[in-house]
Amino acid sequence: MKKIIVAIDGFSSCGKSTMAKQLAHDVGYIYVDTGAMYRAVALYCTQNGWMDEDGMDVESIERNIGDIHLAFKFNQERKAEIHLNGKNVEHEIRTLDVSNGASRVSTLRAVRRELVRQQQMMGFEKGIVMDGRDIGTVVFPDAELKIFLTASPEIRAQRRMDELRAKGEEVLYEEVLANVKERDDRDQNRKESPLKKADDAIVIDNSALSIVEQQEILRSLFDQKIKL
Ligand code: C5P
Repeated sequence: MKKIIVAIDGFSSCGKSTMAKQLAHDVGYIYVDTGAMYRAVALYCTQNGWMDEDGMDVESIERNIGDIHLAFKFNQERKAEIHLNGKNVEHEIRTLDVSNGASRVSTLRAVRRELVRQQQMMGFEKGIVMDGRDIGTVVFPDAELKIFLTASPEIRAQRRMDELRAKGEEVLYEEVLANVKERDDRDQNRKESPLKKADDAIVIDNSALSIVEQQEILRSLFDQKIKL
């Protein structure tokens, strides 16, 4: 059967990973969460003292980017988890602080260049679903199926808050909404690979869609591409 590349881009917290993971599972493709890669880099930079609330030591980050080794490994439930220099950091990277750090570190050209290179290698044999911000525009401009997923900031903040609270993180709705808007702004306005819809991407606004409904739309788009 023909294998394709599925690129899913869109704003923070609009359910890209839920959508991408489910499709990859259903069709037997590899799933790659590129946000996890930027988050792991942010964690590494914070741990090394190259980034805090006040700023980034860009020179140190750029000089050491080659020492950051990222890998996805399956856990017992067959879920891919990110490992940073051999250590599983899947849970550590899911905090609001790391979200913010990832959004900042992803503005750096050297970081993007290195992660894009690694992502392109992962998709070399196709049969991959990758989600992020620049997958359809920069990482795989020739991807056979491109989705641009969106939802209103208020709905995304609510979903994100529910997720964080379920994990025991005490957060206020206003704080999460401000974080979502701040990341949208940074993602859309950064110089390096800003978030934008690829010309040939299909827009799905899931503000009023259930997960099952959005999955059905995606699956039928995938099936059409596979038949071509
Ligand atoms: O998708 P997620 O929210 O986990 O991504 C964390 C941050 O990494 C985003 O806010 C975004 O700034 C950045 N990112 C990016 N390019 C990607 C994936 C994520 O700039 N392909």
